[in-house]
Amino acid sequence: MAMDKIDISISGMHCASCAALITRALEKTKGVATANVNYASGRAHVEFDKKVVSEKDLSKAIEAQGYKAKLGFDLDNEKKLREKEIAELKLKLIIGIALSIPTLALGMFLMEFPYRPWLLFLLATPVQFYVGASFFTGAWSALRNRTATMDTLIALGTGTAYLYSLAFLAGLVMEQYFEVAATLITLVVLGKYLEAVAKGRTSEAIRKLMDLSPKKARVIRNGKEIEISAEKVKVGDTILVKPGEKIPVDGIVAEGDSAVDESMVTGESMPVEKMKGSRVVGGTINGHGMLRFKATKVGKDTVLAQIVKLVEEAQGSRADIQRFADMISAYFVPVVVVIAAATFAAWYFVLGGAFQFALVAAISVLVIACPCALGLATPTAIMVGTGLGAQKGILIKNAEALEMMHKINAIVFDKTGTITNGKPVVTDIVSLNGASESGILRLAASIEQYSEHPLADSIVQEAKKRNLTLEKATGFKAIAGHGVSASIMGKQYALGNLKLMKKTSVPANKFNRRISALESNGKTVMVLASGKEACGLVAVADTIRESSAPAIRELKQLGIESWLITGDNERTARAIAKKAGIRNVFAGVLPNEKADYVKKIQSRGMKVAMVGDGINDAPALAQADIGIVMGSGTDVAMEAGSIVLMRSDAMDVPRAIKLGRATISKIKQNMFWAMIYNVIGIPVAAGMLYPFTGILLSPIIAGGAMALSSVSVVANSLTLRWAKL
Ligand code: ADP
Ligand code: MG
Repeated sequence: MAMDKIDISISGMHCASCAALITRALEKTKGVATANVNYASGRAHVEFDKKVVSEKDLSKAIEAQGYKAKLGFDLDNEKKLREKEIAELKLKLIIGIALSIPTLALGMFLMEFPYRPWLLFLLATPVQFYVGASFFTGAWSALRNRTATMDTLIALGTGTAYLYSLAFLAGLVMEQYFEVAATLITLVVLGKYLEAVAKGRTSEAIRKLMDLSPKKARVIRNGKEIEISAEKVKVGDTILVKPGEKIPVDGIVAEGDSAVDESMVTGESMPVEKMKGSRVVGGTINGHGMLRFKATKVGKDTVLAQIVKLVEEAQGSRADIQRFADMISAYFVPVVVVIAAATFAAWYFVLGGAFQFALVAAISVLVIACPCALGLATPTAIMVGTGLGAQKGILIKNAEALEMMHKINAIVFDKTGTITNGKPVVTDIVSLNGASESGILRLAASIEQYSEHPLADSIVQEAKKRNLTLEKATGFKAIAGHGVSASIMGKQYALGNLKLMKKTSVPANKFNRRISALESNGKTVMVLASGKEACGLVAVADTIRESSAPAIRELKQLGIESWLITGDNERTARAIAKKAGIRNVFAGVLPNEKADYVKKIQSRGMKVAMVGDGINDAPALAQADIGIVMGSGTDVAMEAGSIVLMRSDAMDVPRAIKLGRATISKIKQNMFWAMIYNVIGIPVAAGMLYPFTGILLSPIIAGGAMALSSVSVVANSLTLRWAKL
């Protein structure tokens, strides 16, 4: 059953446990299949059944938890929400600092200051209930849902300190902790502020992509040149682009010569020559010439819009590795509350410590515990990783693909258009029946003009070059992995490999020698048969990509084995493989069998990536653990694979692997530090070191450490932007 999908923007989340809470609430809602709430971007992605639950109900379910929900998610809106959030936090931070500093001075040093207790109360109270308001409302809504979040910890920790201090004010106890409560709240707000700023950076890459979308277009309507907003351009409009201007939408050049800088979309730094018939992509920048082109894709259909959508989706997706963090987050806070209570009980009741000492230790436990760092570990790294990929022309469709990339240990390359340029040229024409070379070529081209295969194209191009007039052919048929057939002037012709000859019972043994000689040079030979008789050979050669051999070498260094798979014959395939440095070859494979070969390698326990052009290898791309589509420039076949390489540079394959590895290792680092931080911090805060060393953390230091730990996770993810690929 096809599920309905929706993105929802959520505001008011303070930490990763909020995201876990909303996820649970959504998944409990009838009709919801899966929900993924990304704390880092403030976005929920929900798969649900419209017949059971409405979109409105989904946002109601979120709002019932005490958050604000808005159907749909767009980055402009997210940016606005984030800016608002940052501005609010900044204001609270300034007020918090302004009040906390005198509170600290008064609380710790100026013991004899007149009206000290009341001044402390006056200074600390606005911090508690204005600066720290969101912690209390957050804790309250969590409580109503019978869960606990990080807000619960902060509210409990600072609330206890504050209440105890009120007792001091009433003369019931001897000590006060107003400065502890105020400073803690300010520190946590500082942490939240830094985190919000850093989180904004994680989506910088995609925002840069979005900023590329042109605002204005110069179109020709009713013979007049007018400037309109780029959104108003319609398919079929004629558009004029002057030197140095941005190309507003996708289209095909009708007139003009120029070189276009497409680096922002494809990652390709060299400008691309454009002339009549060339494709241009919106968002790229025209060079020195003037171009007039016809719009073919506008609005949501443009390459740029699709890239943005794809990256956005990837950034909202959930990595497998995150499940672990989610599981821990679910139990984390209640466990910490229990540990804090146990700490108090142990010191006060069991070990006979002072009440204040036990209380301080319990508060430290509450405030040092940091579930957020754990929750931020994965999504921030995924966001930075996918963004970095997009900048380099490596589009990753989802977090799982990025994750899988680091497990890959075998890569299968399609030959034509992947290892080779996919632009074969005719090199030899052999007549076997006394007809002229051009006669053979003319017949071959007359059939191939109906085929879309790259081989067909090379033959037609050659005929054009020689100014041959093509015949009309009827009954054209393409036999996948074999060749083509058609009749011309009542005569039946077949053109293809030896497999095709066998299939149509054309004896070709006589020419085996000549064929294999050509094939050993890496050429692909096609036999032209008229009826049951072979009458000519056409050999074509495809050039190997310059980047293929270095890429294979690089992959080997990364510990990855490469395979070549092709429908072409063994000898040609071997010759090409040798040039590329590939030792494993599967030749003579029919397009529909390619997936079986991928399966075969998988059955040896390998994790396989398949690299193809997405044209006739879609099943193999789907069978592989990861399908990588190598586009040629802007011609993106985005459907076929889970990773799309915008450039036709084979080096992007090892780059993608490195990106996957770098991202995963970043996630693991984040997780490790987040875990170790809690594992060490909580016992120290509980006073475990005290009996041996006399060290007891003050709650203020504990709170500071907590604030720093989530900031450091986000900062660590951001360093991924400089990963060497
Ligand atoms: P690849 O795996 O390299 O993409 P295909 O499976 O498309 O190759 O084709 C395999 C072989 O089938 C080609 O090498 C060629 O011999 C033959 N063939 C396929 N299509 C055609 C065609 N249109 N004309 C002639 N031969 C063809
Ligand atoms: Mg192919």
